[in-house]
Amino acid sequence: MRPVRRGFATSAVHAGQESDPLTGAVIPPIYQTSTFTQTGVETLTGGYEYSRGGNPTRNGLETQLAALEGGTAAFAFASGVAAEDALLRATLSPGDTVVAAAECYGGTHRLLTQLYARWGVTVEFVAPGDTTALEAAVAAPEARVAWLETPTNPLLTVADIAAWAEVAHAHGTLLVVDNTFASPALQTPLSRGADAVVHSTTKYIGGHSDVLGGAVVVGDALWEGEPLAELVCFQQFAGGAVAGPQDAYLTSRGLKTLGVRIRQHCENARSVAEWLSERAGVEQVYYPGLPGHPGHDIAREQMAGFGGVVSFRLGTEARARAVAEGTRLCGLSVSLGGVESLICHSATMTHAAAAGTDQAPPRDLVRVSVGIEDVEDIVEDLDRAIERAIRLR
Ligand SMILES: *Cc1c(COP(=O)(O)O)cnc(C)c1O
Repeated sequence: MRPVRRGFATSAVHAGQESDPLTGAVIPPIYQTSTFTQTGVETLTGGYEYSRGGNPTRNGLETQLAALEGGTAAFAFASGVAAEDALLRATLSPGDTVVAAAECYGGTHRLLTQLYARWGVTVEFVAPGDTTALEAAVAAPEARVAWLETPTNPLLTVADIAAWAEVAHAHGTLLVVDNTFASPALQTPLSRGADAVVHSTTKYIGGHSDVLGGAVVVGDALWEGEPLAELVCFQQFAGGAVAGPQDAYLTSRGLKTLGVRIRQHCENARSVAEWLSERAGVEQVYYPGLPGHPGHDIAREQMAGFGGVVSFRLGTEARARAVAEGTRLCGLSVSLGGVESLICHSATMTHAAAAGTDQAPPRDLVRVSVGIEDVEDIVEDLDRAIERAIRLR
């Protein structure tokens, strides 16, 4: 029997976060232990044996994540790419192909193109919106896994998850969605047909730029006759890239406030995007919430909000770099999804490895992870930096 499905905000606060039965502590303790004493050589005390296999703090986070994504099981890892790696190794064999949406995260690109090449796994990229190309690619018998990220980084391209699921499933291909940019507060890919969701919990889920982490969340999908949940569970245990208890605790703590944080991120990002659209010197603004954005209609249908990341172009690389280096409130930094606003020059920072490829972002583009500060202060900071950049050059 499945537990009663509660609302998002309630599950965020309570799922997997029950008070401690021993002391009544409202917040369950951090189980900072590697191992657990047993009552006999074959009998465990509370179901736990060794923390790589299971730890109550990590398991609490996993329950919380599964509830919020509407999944049946979640698995927490030391980082987002560790989660991706576990899922891919749980599902792929030498000779297989991954069909991935272009513009995927740089670390995912690195895994797919560099790390797995030695193990005989290949990757084919298709445009996120091109379901005809997707259909052609997944029709090949070697194509086993389809990989979609929406919205993308840094161009905020939006793809239709249900359309990808339909095409992938028509050819027996597993659909994975990287839900890092939207977070489960804005979209739940499993409800649109995805078989697995991956997260960098480092971003919106942790939400405070103080902890790395990753997760895989699955529904009821079978893979080669076995529950996908069991395959990922085994991979997590056997591969061992688990989230430690302190990291799991910080991530759980951040996740409790995701709903309220994301509302402010979305509201601030929309204000910043609208303001940038009118700002002299700004040539193009990328934000799915703007009616002119090519993915606006899909985003409106698929997402409960448009997210907290805004990218914009300044016409020249020199101006873009000057803006990125010229803000005071927005920290010059990679990463995103924290309460504080961060700015970066994608071409030289997050996407440096993509230089010269068709995955390289425009060189005059700046990305802002809009935080939850007072939006007037964010706008003032950007305004001043843009003004200086266009005067200097
Ligand atoms: C950051 C990020 C990752 C990788 O996560 P890490 O926690 O840095 O390993 C994967 N996908 C997306 C979309 C990301 O932004």
